[in-house]
Amino acid sequence: KQRIFSGVQPSGNLTLGNYLGAIRNWVGLQKNYESIFCVVDLHAITVWQDPEQLRKATREVAAGMIASGVDPKECIIFNQSQVPAHAELAWIFNCVARLGWLNRMTQFKEKAGKNRERASSGLYVYPNLMAADIMIYKATHVPVGEDQKQHLELARDIAQKFNNDYGVDFFPMVEPLILGEAKRVMSLRDGNSKMSKSDPSDNSRINMTDDRDTIAKKIRKAKTDSEPMAETPDGLEGRAEAKNLISIFAALSDRSVADICTEYGGQGFAQFKSDLADLSVSVLGPITEEMKRLCDEKTYIDQVLKEGSEKARKISDPILKDVHKIVGFLQS
Ligand code: ATP
Ligand code: MG
Repeated sequence: KQRIFSGVQPSGNLTLGNYLGAIRNWVGLQKNYESIFCVVDLHAITVWQDPEQLRKATREVAAGMIASGVDPKECIIFNQSQVPAHAELAWIFNCVARLGWLNRMTQFKEKAGKNRERASSGLYVYPNLMAADIMIYKATHVPVGEDQKQHLELARDIAQKFNNDYGVDFFPMVEPLILGEAKRVMSLRDGNSKMSKSDPSDNSRINMTDDRDTIAKKIRKAKTDSEPMAETPDGLEGRAEAKNLISIFAALSDRSVADICTEYGGQGFAQFKSDLADLSVSVLGPITEEMKRLCDEKTYIDQVLKEGSEKARKISDPILKDVHKIVGFLQS
């Protein structure tokens, strides 16, 4: 079996974007790949996290994965800080990656905003840690949303440079797996920015913990344009908000965007939005309930994370040892 790795930051509530862009796809992959799924708490602290909140979000993200159908018996599920090899390899990659490469990363530019001088240095080297997350298991495939494509290209560059510099054929070239009809779910308030856990506006996103009324209200208020709905996918060009809502509909119903356009084309958005709210509730509702149930059983989640991290260390420890040898760290 080939090995996959993917992660979610405990930096807020899980969103519909995390579900459609990442977690849902993992469920389909877990049978065919040796799967390692990580709550990446080291990544989360690249921006400020309240410690109590971080602990809570770590459990919630793990519960969200399991409630969505990621099976802790089939996969390794753990939180990143319990496996120190991630941070250790990240340091080595800090010394492999070039500043010029990091300077091109759009996520840093977006997250640092205008006041770049005040961003943490962790936020800047985030992609090096992400490369380490993958390479410490020599994973070959990484199922992510489209927003992470650039970071995966960087991970390949790092692996390639490491292999070249040390004259080894050690790290594999990773491939992203970007799947489904909603590869980049956009904000409900602005069709040009990504839906994110960490967006200060709660109305910009659907949280996996939102109740029926909240979901309906957010979708009703979601930004659209004044044109009737498009009859074909081509008619969605230049209509970011409409395109986003229709892609979400398609992904949630396992239908194509073309199919949805045929059904609703020519109408206003009211009926479509009402149907989309029902659809979202029918998909997310059972997951939300199971998530809540699991979160009430903290000891279960903590046990999953503990066992997962033990399994993860069994894979990563020998790989880190090999890296130390390659780099020339004396082992006495
Ligand atoms: P943050 O705002 O803190 O960065 P986030 O919502 O972007 O949070 P991450 O933890 O950074 O979530 O990403 C977890 C996974 O979810 C990644 O695979 C990422 O590509 C995917 N993802 C995040 N947002 C979206 C989105 N809007 N559409 C599709 N996939 C997404
Ligand atoms: Mg993100």
